[in-house]
Amino acid sequence: MTLPAIAPQPGIMEIALYEAGSSTLSGRSDVLKLSSNENPFGPSDKAREAVARAAHQMHRYPSTDHAALRAAIAEVHGLDLDRIICGVGSDEIIHFLCQAYAGPGTEVLFTEHGFLMYRISAMAAGATPVEARERERTTDIDALIAAATPATRLIFVANPNNPTGTMVDLSELERLARAVPQAILVIDAAYAEYVGGDYDGGAELATRLPNVVMTRTFSKLYGLGGLRVGWGYGPRPVIDVLNRIRGPFNLSNVALEGAEAAIRDRAHAEHARTENARLRGWLATALAERGVPSDSSCANFILARFADATTAEACDAALKADGIIVRRVASYGLPHCLRITIGDEASCRRVAHVIGQFMAGRG
Ligand code: PMP
Repeated sequence: MTLPAIAPQPGIMEIALYEAGSSTLSGRSDVLKLSSNENPFGPSDKAREAVARAAHQMHRYPSTDHAALRAAIAEVHGLDLDRIICGVGSDEIIHFLCQAYAGPGTEVLFTEHGFLMYRISAMAAGATPVEARERERTTDIDALIAAATPATRLIFVANPNNPTGTMVDLSELERLARAVPQAILVIDAAYAEYVGGDYDGGAELATRLPNVVMTRTFSKLYGLGGLRVGWGYGPRPVIDVLNRIRGPFNLSNVALEGAEAAIRDRAHAEHARTENARLRGWLATALAERGVPSDSSCANFILARFADATTAEACDAALKADGIIVRRVASYGLPHCLRITIGDEASCRRVAHVIGQFMAGRG
């Protein structure tokens, strides 16, 4: 007997499946994966040890309030721990925000090359996703303000942006938050640690303004993409709302202990950050010398620009033939570009060499 198909909520079947970058190439064991902006140095040894210890406690339910991890985050960033919420990656914080603040009849706004989860979470909540035009290389605050309507409830801006790696000034984000007071501005600071200088990811804005939330992740600088830990920081009333829809045991013991040890290991984080900055500059210059310009990136990847989509596709194929996986970003509306994660020095040299050979072969 076949059961009758039960229809999902309206709009759900229009959601396009998220296509994550693949990590294998058939027939190759020496694959170099530069497609998911992972930390080439991996996690801190202290995080590995904490995870192994926590695994012995897997028969126990984890903490429900994440107090120890929130305390560590608060200490490292100089924030109020009562304004922090932890989630299964920052993806889950994005999801909580959409579930709590968006819904049928409301709009969720983001930029045209924005991170794909904004659209997915908005549609899952039944809201209408709205894309604002982007400038060629960076977020256009005026376009976001112009695209906002009285129905706008959430605005997502990744800063630095993925996949361009570029960023806008915090004063511009403040202008946006003030211009659209009916919406929460979510500053997605997944790549904030790579910026350097005094960039705080929007923490000070989220402390001062009632409609700004910052999201962060352990998946990038801390090398814990596989553990799935992210966090949000914002006004107390917003964090209170999000906690009401959070599952009591959303993070495992292993994830909580690993993330806490990772954020406390400042030396490992600093090494990953400085190496990334050095190699990002090196790779951008090396590619430019080989005829491939890239945007000025503040993150742990660069967006290499080719003459057209066909050239980008052919270069991607040449890289794959050499066992290197980078990210095609056609689904972000950038078919003529390839997003390349900054690996360690040997990886950067290898990718520059293959792209150099590819470009020489065309010229
Ligand atoms: N925001 C941006 C801009 C990202 O690029 C990513 C990861 N691809 C995320 C959020 C989500 O990261 P995670 O769920 O691993 O914390």
